[in-house]
Amino acid sequence: MKKSQPIRMCIACRSRHPQNSLIRLKHEGKDVVAFDGKGRSFYLCDICSTDEKKIKGLIKRFKQDEERFAAIIKQLTQ
Ligand SMILES: [Zn+2]
Repeated sequence: MKKSQPIRMCIACRSRHPQNSLIRLKHEGKDVVAFDGKGRSFYLCDICSTDEKKIKGLIKRFKQDEERFAAIIKQLTQ
């Protein structure tokens, strides 16, 4: 029997996906980091996480360092 998954929204494209198919991030001060179980998190779908334009949009939106942010996304999508 299939267990129903909680559905979460991707912050980049606003589409809804099962929670376990999304990348989970959070804000730590001004930085966006991988979610570590504490604080408020947000989600990014696997389509957006491999879409360079979407990633660049998020970097601007959250005023992130481009290299650092890209490295986190890369690490989480491996
Ligand atoms: Zn998305």
